[in-house]
This record gives sequence, structure tokens and C-alpha cells, in this order.
Amino acid sequence: MVNDTTLLLDLDGVSVMRVERLQCGGRRVHLATAEEAARACPACGVFASRVKGSATTRPRDFPYGESRLELVWHKRRWWCRETACPRRSFTEQIEQIPAGVRITRRLRAASGRRVRDSGSTVIQAARDLRLSWPTVMNAFRTCVREVVEAELPDVEVLGIDETRRGRTGWEQEPDTGKWKMTRDRWHTGFVDALGTGGLLGQVEGRTVADVLAWLSTTPLTWRKNIRHVAIDMSATYRAAIRTGLPDVIVVVDHFHVVQLANKMLSLVRRRTTAETRGRRGRATDPEWKARRRLLRNREDLTDDQFATMWNPLLGDGKIGQTLLTAWIAKESLRNLLALARTGASREQVGHARWKFLTWCADANIPEVRTLATTIDRWWTEIAAFITTGHSNAKSEGINRVIKLVARNAFGFRNAENQRLRTRCVTTRQARGHLRTVQL
Ligand SMILES: [Zn+2]
Repeated sequence: MVNDTTLLLDLDGVSVMRVERLQCGGRRVHLATAEEAARACPACGVFASRVKGSATTRPRDFPYGESRLELVWHKRRWWCRETACPRRSFTEQIEQIPAGVRITRRLRAASGRRVRDSGSTVIQAARDLRLSWPTVMNAFRTCVREVVEAELPDVEVLGIDETRRGRTGWEQEPDTGKWKMTRDRWHTGFVDALGTGGLLGQVEGRTVADVLAWLSTTPLTWRKNIRHVAIDMSATYRAAIRTGLPDVIVVVDHFHVVQLANKMLSLVRRRTTAETRGRRGRATDPEWKARRRLLRNREDLTDDQFATMWNPLLGDGKIGQTLLTAWIAKESLRNLLALARTGASREQVGHARWKFLTWCADANIPEVRTLATTIDRWWTEIAAFITTGHSNAKSEGINRVIKLVARNAFGFRNAENQRLRTRCVTTRQARGHLRTVQL
């Protein structure tokens, strides 16, 4: 029995003297100091030899299973007899349980790691390990430093993306009954878009100044390694990069470009319905029925689905004709983007671009023309995507994690802690070497 507990305990520096059964079914383990160094004076380092008295403390360690396990450490107090030492006496301490501390070092560290690496909330970890909320929060802050203060990994493609922290908050004004927004906080995330560095940093806000502020915290040598920056179609981010990283090539990925084309298609559908029918769309309208299929890729539709969508639409006259024109613009843009990393020549890309632009110009649909203008304004960045194929897909994945963390954020009282945690969760895979194997 005693041996079992010793094995279980595995706490360096103490040994088990005896084990007491408690009324409640738990056990109380009496410990004695088992480390010579414990009687070294903390002030001068000289080993003491004269006992002053004894003391007991009740350090807390991991909860073992369902039953309670209490630790009682019987330790000695020593006189320090070094004449030059200012310390007269001291109590024994060991690495795992420093003087004046009630929780073993390993329990404290494990509670922090649960939050940092295992996606546990502060409250969950505190409950599981029977610790207080502030204890776990402090442990988390300590072990997070390893990650935050670690050097940034070399990044060739930097992804910049915006994400909203938590949900938008609404509040009803008591006097007027009007609803107003109380929380609409946006964060900018910086991601290793090609490698395994995960989320590199996050700042509050999404202005040029916010991006530049983060960049200014990074070493110049690190910034010099960046070749490309992937962003969504945000003119703000593009402006920030031109200032902060003037030598990099900016890339916008196809996902956001296609999204823009799909938005255009929905706008055309709503406007033509309103103009032609003089009302909003109804479930019986063919264009309403086709509203989702219109946004799908041609290659994802069977010939049957394709025919079922277009036959009634075109039979309906003007609405169908307009939608078909807009839809071809979208598919023509997708064909252009599909040339990414196919090794297509400049001429092939140029031809596909010309086909898209002339189709839009001839379309005589305002939304289609607006799309063409936007694509033209972003052509340099789109062409860079077609050449490199770099995308912000990792940012999207990381944003999902951020939302997950935000949803579990009831343990985090402020944005700073939440950012730290998001960063730890998303970089976890990349820093397996930092983790130690423990319970
Ligand atoms: Zn001393």
C-alpha cells in the first residue's frame, strides 16, 4: 500500500512515511523530506546541521482518481550558523514545493498547460484540478510566455486577415426601446500562410495603423524573409503592406474573388426580380428556386441539375437572360482563376482575362461592370495569385479556431488573454518540442 502510493506520487524530494485512511474514503499521505539539498540555507547555500524545530504543510498535488488524497509534509526548521549569513533560520524546501507555496509546481504547470494546449477553459481546468480561477489564470500566463516570447519562425508567405472577437453585442435602450450595437470588435490576425507557424500574432483593430503597429514589433531580419503577403480584398491591408513591407508581392486568393462574383450574382437576381415583377422574390419564382444553385460551380452541377435550373429561368424571359449573362461572367472569372499554378503562359492568362473583361463590358448590367472594375483594380494581386497559388486558406482555418476559443471564452475576462490563448492553440502543432510529457 505504501509502495503503491509512493509509485503513484512520484514527487521528487519527499518520501512517504505512512498513509492514513480517511473516513470519507480518501487517504492522507504523510511525507518526509528526502533531499539533502533541502537543508541548504536559501541565503548562503551552506548545509545546516542544527535542527530548530519542525513544521507541517499541506501541499496540493494532482487529484488521484475519485477519492481524495491529502498530503502532509513534515519538514524541519534549521538554524543557519554561518556567521556572515543574514538568515538566522529557515524551513526546508524542495524544487517541486518552494517555501511558502501551497501547490506543487507540477500541478500549477499542468493547470496552465491544460488551458494553453488542450483547449480547456480556465474554469474547467480549475474545476478538474480543484484549484481556484486566479491560480489557473496565473499559471496559464506563466506558461504562455514560452510561446509568446519564442522567436517568430521564418515566414515566406504572411497571411493577414480580419476576425471579429466574439459576437456583436446588442443592447436595448430603456427609453426609446431602440437596439444599438455595444460590441463590434475586430481583430487582425497574422498567420504563417505556407509553413506550420500558425497564428503569429493578433492585434485589436483593422486599420493601416494597427497592421503597421504589429509589423513594427517584429525584427527587421524576419520581415526581410517575407516574399508574399496573402490578404482578402481589403484595400486597407493592401495600403498597410505597401507601407510596412514595400518589397513583398501582395496576393489575393481566389476564394475572396469568387465570393465577390457570387455577391454580384445575388444582387443582380434581387434587382431584376424587383424591377420585372415589382416585388420581392417569392418561393414560386424560378430565379428564387435557383438562388443557391446559381452560386455553385458549373463543374459541381450535373447536366440534369444544370438543365433544371436554366430551362425554366430562360423560359421566363428577361430575368433568365440577365441572370445567364451575369452567371457567365462569374464562370468566366472562375476559369481565369483556375489557371493558377497550371503553368499557363502570360498569353493564356491575358487571353482569359480579356475574355472576362469584354464579356462584362458587353453585358450592360451595372453589377457585372462593377465586378469587372474591381477585378481590374486588383489585377496585380490576382495575377500574383495565378502565378503563385498562395492563399489565405490557413487564416480561414485559424479563424475557425479563434471563433471556437471565443465561444469558450467565459474564462477569459479580457481580449489580451483570449489572444494569447488563441495563439497558443493555433501554434500547438508547431511547437511539439516545447511540450513535456506529464499526466
Ligand atoms: Zn545561511
